[in-house]
Amino acid sequence: MRSSPAARPDAIRRHNLALVLDHVHRDGALTRAELTQRLEVSRSTMGALVADLIELGLVEEAVPTGGSRVGRPSHVVAPHGGGPYVVAVDVDVTQIVTAAVGIGGVVLSREVITTSGSDIGHPEKVADRAAEQIRKVSEASGRDGPPVGIGVSVPGTIDRDTRHVAVAPNLEWRDVAFAELLAERLAAPAPVSIGNDADFAVLAEHRRGASRQVEDAVFLLGRVGVGAGIISGGQPLHGRDGHAGEIGHTVVDTGGPPCHCGKHGCVETYVGEGALLRIAGRPQPPSEEATAAVFADARAKDPTALAAVREVAESLGRAIASLVNTLNPELVLLGGYLSDLLDLARPEIEAAIVRYALAAPSRSVRLLQPTFGPDSALLGAAEAAFAEMLADPLAAGDTARS
Ligand SMILES: [Zn+2]
Repeated sequence: MRSSPAARPDAIRRHNLALVLDHVHRDGALTRAELTQRLEVSRSTMGALVADLIELGLVEEAVPTGGSRVGRPSHVVAPHGGGPYVVAVDVDVTQIVTAAVGIGGVVLSREVITTSGSDIGHPEKVADRAAEQIRKVSEASGRDGPPVGIGVSVPGTIDRDTRHVAVAPNLEWRDVAFAELLAERLAAPAPVSIGNDADFAVLAEHRRGASRQVEDAVFLLGRVGVGAGIISGGQPLHGRDGHAGEIGHTVVDTGGPPCHCGKHGCVETYVGEGALLRIAGRPQPPSEEATAAVFADARAKDPTALAAVREVAESLGRAIASLVNTLNPELVLLGGYLSDLLDLARPEIEAAIVRYALAAPSRSVRLLQPTFGPDSALLGAAEAAFAEMLADPLAAGDTARS
């Protein structure tokens, strides 16, 4: 069916507005000349598009000062300093991190609270605390009004149809409508997007970080649990119901240690933070401090700590070898505490990949730390919260003004 002559220019304009905003969101300040070249439009069309985005309060423009380049300087288009923002919430076993994030992924304000083991198992209490944090970071953002969206990252799988947290073993949540619990507690209504932490982490890195331009990448996020976020052929891979990437619960030894999922000998019982502490002879509830202490001792050549780090590195390499055989990624990003493990034991991890993966795919894989460090999942949640506005800035502007 052919669209009406009147509708077509509008559709093209909307599409181009989304493209310009997306480029500025992903790259920060860009000159009008660069944008004109990227979109392959005329200078006057670009001028009109930028004017529309300025009108919507999404970007601002400045004439660069200084320099002695010949010719007319091209205006620089940047995310608007007072533009809309989202709030991202990263719920993990040991802490909840909340941040107000502007266009371009700029963190405007941030709050971290540690959660006691007893609270984290109660979704209502977590929602209470997260709502309170959302209010705080919104106030501290320096921007007017409520956020245009909320993104929540959780260490669990999200049912594709219901958007409920299907299972988050380390939180002991099963079929929890967390997005709804949170929405009920918000002072001002905002759409709540919810996703798996590793899925969000790989999204942030794919959009604006280390795996940009990489079509096949895996983000292996290791905290208390271990999960993979996967980009395959340039697209996120979620599986039929949204549960793909749960490599942490792949059973590698039926006689192994008990796992929170109810089975024994899962990958995360050899690779998660708890495993490092157990193997280092320091069994205790995982915390950033406890893990950091093992790493510090390993760096100081304490033999027990060093042996534990190497053993976990070997198990991690073996888990990555399975991913390499299954997915043939170009890049594996190691996030969470696995970033430190890579720093300390890269040779052991790489040796295990070579030992356990097929030769051909193991030759092309590279291991890297994520660009956004511990904030990948948080910033991926922000990406999800921004998605609607980035897809159609004009509609988002209309909603904001109505
Ligand atoms: Zn398990």
